[in-house]
Amino acid sequence: MENEKKQTAYSAIQPSGTFTIGNYYGALKNWVTLQDEFDCIFCVANLHAITVPQVPAELRQRTYEAYALLLAMGIDPERSLVYVQSQVHQHAELSWILNNFTYMGELSRMTQYKDKSQKQGKNIRVGLFDYPVLMAADILLYQSDIVPIGADQKQHVEICRDIAERFNSTFSPTFTVPEPYFGTAGARIKSLQEPEKKMSKSDQNVNAFVSMLDDKDTMIRKFKRAVTDSLAQVKYDPENQPGVSNLLEIYSCAAGTTIEEAVAEFDGKGYGDFKLAVGETVADALMPVQDEFRRLLSDKKQLDEMMRDNSEKAAYIAEKTLRKVKRKVGLL
Ligand code: ATP
Ligand code: MG
Repeated sequence: MENEKKQTAYSAIQPSGTFTIGNYYGALKNWVTLQDEFDCIFCVANLHAITVPQVPAELRQRTYEAYALLLAMGIDPERSLVYVQSQVHQHAELSWILNNFTYMGELSRMTQYKDKSQKQGKNIRVGLFDYPVLMAADILLYQSDIVPIGADQKQHVEICRDIAERFNSTFSPTFTVPEPYFGTAGARIKSLQEPEKKMSKSDQNVNAFVSMLDDKDTMIRKFKRAVTDSLAQVKYDPENQPGVSNLLEIYSCAAGTTIEEAVAEFDGKGYGDFKLAVGETVADALMPVQDEFRRLLSDKKQLDEMMRDNSEKAAYIAEKTLRKVKRKVGLL
């Protein structure tokens, strides 16, 4: 199998909160199917998570949960690498070097930085500004060919490509220049409370997102409270009916239908019935994942062993790239 030489797919998720259905339908569900086609490397990006304030004990616990949730969803450690970022020191090291191949102007244009820095008041963390460089290091360490992401991360993959090309042309070809990869739906799931904004697991308002681990009643309650409009028609029109359109997208992801099919199904129904159906469908899709998650999380010792084993394998690959980089830059 090893010598078939598939392309490498690399993706990461922060343990900055419990994964939402935005993460799931926008990114994670694709990860599972990508395993058939690519050599996949998946990372629980805890170094990225500390670019916003975290409570240490909660971060530690959420890192275990994130790891277990990836496995519960169907990431198969027999076929893919799945590791924790802080256990592979090469990420921080390459990131420092790449800082010197990245310009302040480029980083200041990043939408995520603009959005998230607003919430940090006067004391904005340098790490938040530098986030895309660490992300570039993640991707480039593994000579990744494709990077499966949700639409919100497109800019970050573009800057990663720019950094790789700049480094390659300053020295000689060192990094594979990766391509972004968007899932079939290209889903960008929106907040349930402010449907113009993306759904984020770190949102302060818990009603804005549905977590993959919310119980069924909570999920249904959050969908019932979802912001819609006063047009009283279930139509797909993101411009004029962003809330309803978002619910249609979520429903079509969870039920495995097209948007048109979903619209036809709810034609003439009221928002109350529609929201209830979305909630129940999402909950039913996620309950089996939750059961498996609880089983895996109950054995932390086994999770620790898997993490250690996977981080060693990841570090072996990462070190090869890092060694090359240091040599080219002139670092002893
Ligand atoms: P945070 O708010 O802490 O940034 P997040 O929900 O944005 O959390 P990330 O860990 O930053 O999640 O991203 C993990 C993956 O999920 C990325 O590929 C990202 O593109 C994708 N993703 C995040 N939010 C959405 C969304 N609302 N719709 C689709 N994909 C998303
Ligand atoms: Mg994010």
